Amino acid sequence: MVNFFDKTLEELREHLAQCGKEKFRAQQIYRWVYQKGILDPEKMTNMSKDFRSQLLNLIEFKLPKISHIADSSDGTRKFLMDVDGGKTVESVLIPNGDRLTLCVSSEVGCAMGCRFCFTSKMGLMRRLLPFEIVGQFVNASANSPGGRKITNIVFMGMGEPLDNVANVRKAIEILHNQHGFGFPKRRITVSTSGIAPLIREVAEAGVRLAVSLNATTDEIRDKVMPINKKYPLTTLLDACREYASQTGDKVTFEYVLLKGVNDSRDDAHRIVRLTKNIPNKINLIPFNEHPDSGFHRPPAAEVLHFQRILMDAGRHVLIRKTMGRDIFAACGQLRSEMEKHPTRMAIQV
Ligand code: SF4
Repeated sequence: MVNFFDKTLEELREHLAQCGKEKFRAQQIYRWVYQKGILDPEKMTNMSKDFRSQLLNLIEFKLPKISHIADSSDGTRKFLMDVDGGKTVESVLIPNGDRLTLCVSSEVGCAMGCRFCFTSKMGLMRRLLPFEIVGQFVNASANSPGGRKITNIVFMGMGEPLDNVANVRKAIEILHNQHGFGFPKRRITVSTSGIAPLIREVAEAGVRLAVSLNATTDEIRDKVMPINKKYPLTTLLDACREYASQTGDKVTFEYVLLKGVNDSRDDAHRIVRLTKNIPNKINLIPFNEHPDSGFHRPPAAEVLHFQRILMDAGRHVLIRKTMGRDIFAACGQLRSEMEKHPTRMAIQV
């Protein structure tokens, strides 16, 4: 049996045809599920009773199960969702003015080994299937605070999206389909730690690119982000330049500020030089401290000074607020706390 949430519209058409059914039914089912939120074939009333009862044997409508929801006092809502194999992933809804951004996971754990990252401690357990990515969106949409509509999607949760690029791209196609959610691609951002050769896939997918830069010399980047040994800064920035010229879009550079590691004034000046000729914006992220990381957050005055140097060079720079600090905001941290103290944390589902 196939899972509905794993299928593009075209694949669903083909599946129905192979089962001896009319292809146009696929579009009807897409509308029922993605536009009306109806997952029970019995309630899809513009199809014959006979077809509806057969549907249950042709397609399953299985979503990851929400096992926990944690609300922060700042409006952030974090979900833990169970995926097959007894694993869990995190998704986070982040309100910001008119925007409601969903941060989705692409893998259980991650193989990239970024030293400052909580998720990296798990290693890669497995890559998510398309339905497990689409399912995070479906679940979060149905459980958003006040029923607010999700306006943006960022692939910045657990995992390196370009390490699971085929499934990520398929999930994007499903979410974008006009007979389904019709989610605009320009409101979807894929963030990579720097798998340079696969950045062209982001351009081909028609979505926005964010790159975790996090250091300004190969020496430091090798230490904090091991992927740099394979694709050093020049290779990565060449790929970013190509993305920008291919798409006409800006690249967002994410820069986690680690005290005494990558937060010097020289670093700020080097960012200006490195990103020259790449249309960009820069997000500074003061490190969100978590136990045993060995890294620290720079003082607020230092962060502002770092920002000032970049702004004086004409760069568009935002300092990202840390949201949801009271609900274990570091990616992977809520999941870990739940495993350690399952009874201490109230289940709200
Ligand atoms: S920062 Fe992202 S790419 Fe790096 S280890 Fe963590 S989840 Fe993986």
